[in-house]
Amino acid sequence: MKKISTLKKIIFFGFVIIILSFIFLRYFFYEAPILTYHRISSFCFDTPLLCVSPQSFKRQMDFIARHGYQVISLEELVNALSRKKNLPRKTVVITFDDGTEDVYQYGFPILKKHGFPATIFVISHSMGRPGFLSWGQINEMQRSGIDIGSHTKTHVFLPKVDDKKLWQEIFESKQEIQSRLGKEVTLFSYPMGGFNPQAQFFLKKSGYKGACTTNRGRYNIRADVFALRRIKMTDDSDNPLVMWVKLSGIYNLFRRK
Ligand SMILES: [Zn+2]
Repeated sequence: MKKISTLKKIIFFGFVIIILSFIFLRYFFYEAPILTYHRISSFCFDTPLLCVSPQSFKRQMDFIARHGYQVISLEELVNALSRKKNLPRKTVVITFDDGTEDVYQYGFPILKKHGFPATIFVISHSMGRPGFLSWGQINEMQRSGIDIGSHTKTHVFLPKVDDKKLWQEIFESKQEIQSRLGKEVTLFSYPMGGFNPQAQFFLKKSGYKGACTTNRGRYNIRADVFALRRIKMTDDSDNPLVMWVKLSGIYNLFRRK
């Protein structure tokens, strides 16, 4: 009997320690999660890891709506971080990289149904090419609360290019998107998450306000709005437990850097 009550005590205190640790981590290391999607399609056999089916995407957005998360735009997040303003728990940001056409076909109607803002990072030279968004489509989405950011001109890994090319990819993509949208482009996403201090310098010089990477960068980097870490969403993220963990605000703590 004594052994059983000791075991119960150990389980009880173990449970208390886990709960207290979770509260501690959420309090001191909370980062409003920025979700990254690429393609929304059931037919991307060539890039399965960058693909979420429309059904799974719907379930993921339904989860966010049903559990009372507040979806804000990336620009709002960047403004809050720049001003060191605290964001409420359960704040989420939604982003898409590459600007493929299926985002318009399958993702946009679901976002619109929920009234969720999102940012789509487009590759300016791919716009209008087969499989990619057209300028008309992004103009239409922009009118419904979707922001458009730059994902460079030609989707190069920025740390590997010289300064001239780096400037073209950062500055000229911004100019081109702005001229087509009639609106300032202030957000950027690094292809493959790759950046270096020179890229960050050029971004600031070009008038961007913030930039997203993948999971690259230093630990607890949220203070740097030009190296915002994001959480990659996959087809199996629609599992409620996976969704809950990814939206917890401390998910980045447990990932490999
Ligand atoms: Zn990309």
